[in-house]
Amino acid sequence: MKILCIGRNYSEHIRELNNEVPEDIVFFLKPDTSLTKGEENFYYPDFSSEIHYECEVVVKIDKIGKCIPIEYAKDYYSQIALGIDYTLRDIQSKYKAKGLPWTLAKGFDYSAPVSEFVSLKDLNKDIQNIDFTLLKNGELVQNGNTSYMLHTVDEIIAYISQFITLKTGDLIFTGTPKGVGTIQKGDILEAYLEGKSMLRQEIK
Ligand code: MG
Repeated sequence: MKILCIGRNYSEHIRELNNEVPEDIVFFLKPDTSLTKGEENFYYPDFSSEIHYECEVVVKIDKIGKCIPIEYAKDYYSQIALGIDYTLRDIQSKYKAKGLPWTLAKGFDYSAPVSEFVSLKDLNKDIQNIDFTLLKNGELVQNGNTSYMLHTVDEIIAYISQFITLKTGDLIFTGTPKGVGTIQKGDILEAYLEGKSMLRQEIK
């Protein structure tokens, strides 16, 4: 199982980090050891002093596919979840300045908590019109809707599968809206999908 993550997929988030809007879809990988459950605590590691939360809609791949045409991409997923793409922003900024890979900043252990999955059928919503929010200590910090994505889920699947075969159980983090910020020990993060509580983590 692999975890693919899209970077820079919401324009207001691109602006808040002073990044450029990319020409192509930007993606990176997290190892399977980054995955945790959405109700587990997050233990602040000692190798960073600036960790950001990034709340994202996560799509689970249902079957193997390579070079998936965009018009068939919908056949490759049926469930979504919410996840946090924890990012060591201090280390990422240092690596970005040198043009080096982000692997450590994004792929450290427990950097990818993912909630339970819900079926799109049960949600009865278009995947490109899903509301999701993140609260930090009870305060709304991220308020997104998947209609604001620069690249749709189907575009992402068609694009990535040209280069990397997608397999059953693979997860795709689809990018974060604006409002990313730091976490400190004692903080509580809670994520909601269409108003339904999905994920709750205490930072320890
Ligand atoms: Mg992200």
